[in-house]
Amino acid sequence: MALDEFAVVLKAQKFVREADPTTIPVSLAPYLQKAGAELRQDDLDPGEPGFSFQGAGKYFICVNAREREERQRFTVCHELGHVVLGLPSNHKAEPWWSAKRPLAEILCDVFAAELLLPRRLFEPLATEAPVGFAAIDNLAARFMASTTATGSRYAAASSTPCAFVLSQAGQVRYASRSRALQDASAWITPRIDVPAGSASARARGGADASRAEIDAELWFSNWERGGVLLEEARHLSQWDQTLTLLWFENEEVPPLKRPVRRWDRDDGDSRDSRDDEDDMGLKELDGNLRWLGKKRRR
Ligand SMILES: [Zn+2]
Repeated sequence: MALDEFAVVLKAQKFVREADPTTIPVSLAPYLQKAGAELRQDDLDPGEPGFSFQGAGKYFICVNAREREERQRFTVCHELGHVVLGLPSNHKAEPWWSAKRPLAEILCDVFAAELLLPRRLFEPLATEAPVGFAAIDNLAARFMASTTATGSRYAAASSTPCAFVLSQAGQVRYASRSRALQDASAWITPRIDVPAGSASARARGGADASRAEIDAELWFSNWERGGVLLEEARHLSQWDQTLTLLWFENEEVPPLKRPVRRWDRDDGDSRDSRDDEDDMGLKELDGNLRWLGKKRRR
């Protein structure tokens, strides 16, 4: 059966639940024990994070003792992904930050992020933290995880309408959005250029100032609600990666500006009506006739 990212997340969550880590940062011992793996630290070649192999009835995970501890922890969890998911290792093909890595390698990274940032421990802290890179840095330090993995999980967990974007060589590669932005269909298209004039473009250009206010439609595709986003950006020049955090200042997604005709409403509840308008405003141009039917209450 082919694995996809969603299936890997579910498998990782099950693995985490069963190992039941309770400390922050997470102790890797229960993970290693559950996988039947033994950890070794060796002086590997620079740039080689680690590998795993099977022998004498168990797995051995070898990590590069020369790398910093945060990186070693990620490597251990990535190798646990290979062990638990049974995915072959191909570390020579592309460096870890490349967009062209084999799928199995990307899936092991997804697995690793779940292990390092267990939802049960991470989400309560992420939800209450004020929006900004300061909060992400703080959480990354506490969980001993990378800024990128932490930022991605932070945006997904946040109660504020916010998004975390990873760009490489000036093009969007990946975006993680909070529930509120997903509900508002705030879509950031992969492979678009980082918008000119954004804090992200300026950070990539070497500017110090990494904060900006920017029209939401410059980041969101087909966005008709207007509004101004706050943007914080950080450029990692060694990999030409840019990290972007976007959020609405008043912590609310602007309502749709366009008035929507009242087609078929039969309830007088103003709150339900507003929800309907949001749906219809987004759907009315797609050629489908679903708005002629009676809207279901949410
Ligand atoms: Zn790997």
